[in-house]
Amino acid sequence: MKTCFDLSGRTAIVTGANTGIGQALAVALAGAGAAVLGVGRSSMAETEGMIADLHGRFASYSADLSTIDPVDAIVDAAMSSFGSVDILVNNAGIIRRADAIDFTEADWDAVMDVNLKTAFFLSQAAAKRMIPNGRGKIINIASMLSFQGGIRIPSYTASKSGLAGLTRLLACEWAGKGINVNAIAPGYFVTNNTTALREDAQRSSDILARIPAGRWGNPEELGGAAVFLASDAAAYVHGTILPVDGGWLAR
Ligand code: NAP
Repeated sequence: MKTCFDLSGRTAIVTGANTGIGQALAVALAGAGAAVLGVGRSSMAETEGMIADLHGRFASYSADLSTIDPVDAIVDAAMSSFGSVDILVNNAGIIRRADAIDFTEADWDAVMDVNLKTAFFLSQAAAKRMIPNGRGKIINIASMLSFQGGIRIPSYTASKSGLAGLTRLLACEWAGKGINVNAIAPGYFVTNNTTALREDAQRSSDILARIPAGRWGNPEELGGAAVFLASDAAAYVHGTILPVDGGWLAR
């Protein structure tokens, strides 16, 4: 039986789909029926295998998202692989840690380029395909740092706060054209992105003490939010930043 969460016949582009949160979201979307184009600079073989196990459809496209050069080619790759672009998940992201007083321009630019600039221009490229169809879903992967300051991650906080603002702006411009632009704000999840935090005993125990759920999240626990926002069930949901955080923001 087809449900309002069914993504059969839809194509999703997921950036950074080789590992961590992007991999989990690609698998979840494929599990709901979408054909997935995984985009990134590393091998997608593991993700491809996980989706094959579900008898899902997957293709990969190799691209370095530190510049906006590949954005049009990414959209073209989704068109040539699967014939449409219905869902875009802007997941690829990096973090650089240093005290604000010592933070370098290189660490500022690197993070802003991947996390914010490429996310915007890839959304623009995808929307040029979605708008003529009168439908599309864009899901940005935000952060607790879309709401809070954090410490020692100035460009990351700026990029994720900016991504929340951009989510709202794009929702205002494109909701009337049939495109739902929303974001998911993960709390603290076990991925490469948080290795340094989890290896710092003090920071790790401070973080854990604040999470009402009493544990870090597993990337698979973000899949339901992505399927929801990518589906007809979220047809009237626009410009929201959905926290999936074990209760972090509630404390
Ligand atoms: P991750 O394991 O480090 O994954 C980051 C992904 O982004 C990888 O696929 C990485 O590819 C890709 N990427 C980075 N720079 C790229 C570039 N220049 N070109 C192409 N791909 C690039 O960390 P993650 O936790 O899954 O992060 C995914 C997203 O979730 C990020 O936007 C992150 O900010 C966000 N997030 C994570 C958490 C958390 O607790 N983990 C919390 C809030 C938000 P490579 O493997 O090739 O580097």
